[in-house]
Amino acid sequence: MKKGTIVSFNSNLVTVEDYESGEEILCTLRGRFKLTNTKPMVGDRVEYTVDRDRGRVESILPRINVIDKPKISNVDQAVVVVTLSSPDLPYATIDRIILNASRSTIALVLILNKIDLTDPKKINEFKQIYRIYDPILSCVFTGEGIDELKFRLKDHISIFTGPSGVGKSSLLNSILNLKLKTGCVSQSTNFGKHTTSSATLIRIEKGGFVVDTPGFTTIELSNIKPLDVQNFFPEIKSAAYGCAFDDCAHENEPGCNVKALVEKGEIPLSRYENYLKILKEVKDQKIRGDNFEKKY
Ligand code: GDP
Ligand code: ZN
Repeated sequence: MKKGTIVSFNSNLVTVEDYESGEEILCTLRGRFKLTNTKPMVGDRVEYTVDRDRGRVESILPRINVIDKPKISNVDQAVVVVTLSSPDLPYATIDRIILNASRSTIALVLILNKIDLTDPKKINEFKQIYRIYDPILSCVFTGEGIDELKFRLKDHISIFTGPSGVGKSSLLNSILNLKLKTGCVSQSTNFGKHTTSSATLIRIEKGGFVVDTPGFTTIELSNIKPLDVQNFFPEIKSAAYGCAFDDCAHENEPGCNVKALVEKGEIPLSRYENYLKILKEVKDQKIRGDNFEKKY
């Protein structure tokens, strides 16, 4: 049987892009999906058959994950776009956006956009603080950082995230040479709209796809256990192996390797402070039984 990826939905038909040829084939769904209540979604890897020029999806291969808004499967990479001017995002916000995206995907690409508007000293500070992510520095107008971004998107299914106005649509335009409207709601795609409807996968020239709709626009700290907060701060997580206690939360415990490395400057202070802030919020909300959800 042939294999492919569902790239879009058109009422009851789906468009499948063939793994090998890259061709797009309009497919019907087997009646069995209705019976078992398995609804195929964009991102699904499927097996399909072809009869004349119409395909039919026969089975869905196991999903590695599912994102809810937009509804899409197998997204393995988040592209977190932030700026330090227009808008000037505080590091605390940036750390929340990173945490939020890391909860749902495997890999993360961090981009500082609008470097043309940003003081070089601030850019350097950002590079230092976020060195663990090897951030891309970009400017849509000079094209700086765009080739590196293309390279990092290769062979992944990636979704853009970040507050409005940071340049997500502009960056996507530069990668795809598309005409997504920037600075307002796009007509040709869902970009800029916070939609819950189905998204579309756009093929990248060198392999991989990007989702045409931004994701993770709501920060959700609910369902995080306090000891899991460090999982989203990789530099803290790796230092934690050196702590005296297995369940060290790196607040004031004796023999804490994280605190020692912060004091030596090996873990950036702002990352540590924001880790503590989020940890406190997670603990407080656990006590109050909150269901924390906040737009950024
Ligand atoms: P989105 O809301 O994240 O999709 O942001 P947009 O792509 O719509 O961009 C918002 C505004 O920022 C637009 O006016 C863009 O022209 C502008 N912009 C995007 N990237 C850059 C950049 O690298 N430098 C500068 N100076 N402006 C940019
Ligand atoms: Zn510790």
